[in-house]
Amino acid sequence: MRKIQMVDLQKQYQQIKSEVEEALQQIMESAAFINGPAVKNFQGNLENYLGIKHVIPCANGTDALQVSLMTLGLEPGDEVITTTFTFIATAEVIALLGLTPVLVDVYPDTFNIDVQAIEKAITPKTRAIIPVHLFGQCADMESIMALAEKHDLSVIEDNCQAIGADYIFKDGSKQKAGTMGILGCTSFFPSKNLGCYGDGGAIFTDDDQLDYQLRGIVNHGMFVRYYHDLIGVNSRLDSMQAAILDVKLKRLDTYIQKRQEAAAYYNNAFAGNNHIKTPVTAPFTTHVYHQYTLVLDGIDRDKLISFMIEKQIPVMVYYPIPLHLQKAYSDDRYQRGDFPVSEHLAANVISLPIHTELDAEQLEYITTNLLEGVRLSQK
Ligand SMILES: *Cc1c(COP(=O)(O)O)cnc(C)c1O
Repeated sequence: MRKIQMVDLQKQYQQIKSEVEEALQQIMESAAFINGPAVKNFQGNLENYLGIKHVIPCANGTDALQVSLMTLGLEPGDEVITTTFTFIATAEVIALLGLTPVLVDVYPDTFNIDVQAIEKAITPKTRAIIPVHLFGQCADMESIMALAEKHDLSVIEDNCQAIGADYIFKDGSKQKAGTMGILGCTSFFPSKNLGCYGDGGAIFTDDDQLDYQLRGIVNHGMFVRYYHDLIGVNSRLDSMQAAILDVKLKRLDTYIQKRQEAAAYYNNAFAGNNHIKTPVTAPFTTHVYHQYTLVLDGIDRDKLISFMIEKQIPVMVYYPIPLHLQKAYSDDRYQRGDFPVSEHLAANVISLPIHTELDAEQLEYITTNLLEGVRLSQK
């Protein structure tokens, strides 16, 4: 059996090797390394795929979030509401810009931001909401957008984990994750569902004025060469990464399907086990399974992890510490116990390998051992 990895990028590469190498060769021969045609091509193809007017490529997902906040004209002390159960980057950029991150809890089933908790956290200083489409399914965007409209707030979607997921509105219409807020952000970090071979990211918007602003900010605040109207940053997607992404974008829907098939296999294998809660998908979204995350009940998680490692099955805990309990974000406003759902999840979740290359033999091996590990790790 092939060695199991959380994400098997080596095997995935074998399937697209010739196309990737040809694309890279062309760039090296043309020497158009920065802002070359490959970047424009990928940008256009991603705009079509998402059904959005503008995709602004940048250097990584964290920059996408930071630059998005920079275009909104916020002032120090303005509050931005986000979830405490996410990757640190979401709140990091808020704090870096001198804004105040306001954290709220999540729903126990979907792990996504609790809309009622957002409403309670709104104050006269609130300016924006950053919902995260965690692990590959959309947050409740229809409710979040309604709330934002009511209170005149901007919504930036952190779509680093859910590219390609569909949001299904109450009237049955669909929209891609990341295209509903005024701005959407993604990361092309190698292990993301659409990943390059280095760092990369992008911002999505339908707004022409924001598109103009964003392109200036990612380019040193420059709109006319060597005239700097704003304080900006240097944040680019390079041509080689764009070319690789173009090869993988064509396969994104197939990749998503493969992840969904692996998730369905897991769900089926674990159904009925009362120590394991399998992922719950909300009715208003598809799930692209950036992570396949179980919630354990009555299990010594450390013992289970040791068992899995002994069997050479990698497993991960996303995320072991919610943001309000992180040292760098410790704050008189928050204490342990404030966000019970996130704290419970942090203590009881476990993520299994999920990627585009899992075969039947590996899935069989993982599920058999997980069930055995759970049996041996009961508290
Ligand atoms: C990966 C990720 C980011 C940051 O993306 P980078 O490209 O690593 O900067 C931000 N938010 C979430 C939810 C992520 O998963």
